[in-house]
Amino acid sequence: MGETKFSRATEILYQGAYVKGRAERPETPPIYLTTAFNVEDLDDLLSVYEVQGYTYNRTRNPNRNTLAELITYLENGEESIIFSSGMGAISTSMLALLDTGDHLLSDGTLYGETIDLIAKVLPKYGIEITFVDFTDPDAVKNAVKPNTKMLYTETVSNPMITVVDIETVAEIAHANNALLVVDNTFTTSRVIRPLEKGADISINSLTKFANGHSDAVAGALTGSRELVKKIYDLQVLLGSTIDGFTAWLVQRGMRTMDLRVQKQLDNANKLAQALEADPRVIKVHHPSIATHPQHELAKQLFENGYCGMLSFEMPDDRTKINAFMRKLNTAHYAMTLGGYRTSLSHPVSSSHYSIPEAERQKMGITFGLMRVSIGIEDPDDLIADFRQALDVFD
Ligand code: PLP
Repeated sequence: MGETKFSRATEILYQGAYVKGRAERPETPPIYLTTAFNVEDLDDLLSVYEVQGYTYNRTRNPNRNTLAELITYLENGEESIIFSSGMGAISTSMLALLDTGDHLLSDGTLYGETIDLIAKVLPKYGIEITFVDFTDPDAVKNAVKPNTKMLYTETVSNPMITVVDIETVAEIAHANNALLVVDNTFTTSRVIRPLEKGADISINSLTKFANGHSDAVAGALTGSRELVKKIYDLQVLLGSTIDGFTAWLVQRGMRTMDLRVQKQLDNANKLAQALEADPRVIKVHHPSIATHPQHELAKQLFENGYCGMLSFEMPDDRTKINAFMRKLNTAHYAMTLGGYRTSLSHPVSSSHYSIPEAERQKMGITFGLMRVSIGIEDPDDLIADFRQALDVFD
């Protein structure tokens, strides 16, 4: 507002709306909770367009852009985009990069809702789909078709914690002029940067280990400028973006991602070894275990550890499993993962609830299988707590 004085009803809308004085470099970034940005006139608007400045929140927001910059650095890519969820990143990338008549070759053991998206939504757009076991590179090679445009997998599968050889799968994709898209949610860029292994797009549900505080839902993808631009153009139309506050929360969480995730990786190794040594536990699924089917591959592929997720099998006894869950003082059941506190999930009752029993058995998912997302607790406390809860099986 200039010198002109208006009535109170008008002034109340304008007074104090713009920051005065030197406030350009706050210690933490400000939150841009605004739907739009003002310009002076049409020439000013053009100059904003020229520098890819900010006009409307759905197209660009400073908190999203700075978060994207951080993720681009961590994932070692050219460009990133932030989404309203991990599913937003997954669905938008598939819809942007696949056309009617294209074939998507997907791993068969993905996050349940990614499977639903591929199996139920993509065929409606005339996209052909095939699921194969991506831990078997020959099966992947044999399933490629002339119209295969994308291979899709996760670094580590849920809930059996198997590991995919990203480098080999990337070679298969590129030998057939297809793209490789990898979901890095379970491992994060602390452990592996899929783009460095040949993937074209790396996807992260930031809701999980990346933000790590279980207080924000968001997703991201990273890749080459060209691919990311293609996906961004569709994202603007689909509107799968987040507001400045959520982006701000995630960047705050991610400042400590490496510290948290490193502790989670170390704790996971320790808990996996302790459970493996416990006679009440039937089997532990974690790449740190020497008998894990991809133990050697994981050692060669991953840095700083393996994965903050593990699963383990208890006897198929509902009453005792309930008692075990109630007896635990640290880990509680939560329909998420990657938070700073250890949490449990029961695949038969959640992620694989709708899968027929016979198929679940084939995948190795027994009633006694419990998935654990490891937190940053003292590992000795965690191990002691799991041990005393397992006493219900004595
Ligand atoms: N990818 C993986 C591996 C996941 O586990 C999840 C959710 O649990 C997602 C993607 C989806 O993330 P969001 O819940 O942020 O959409």
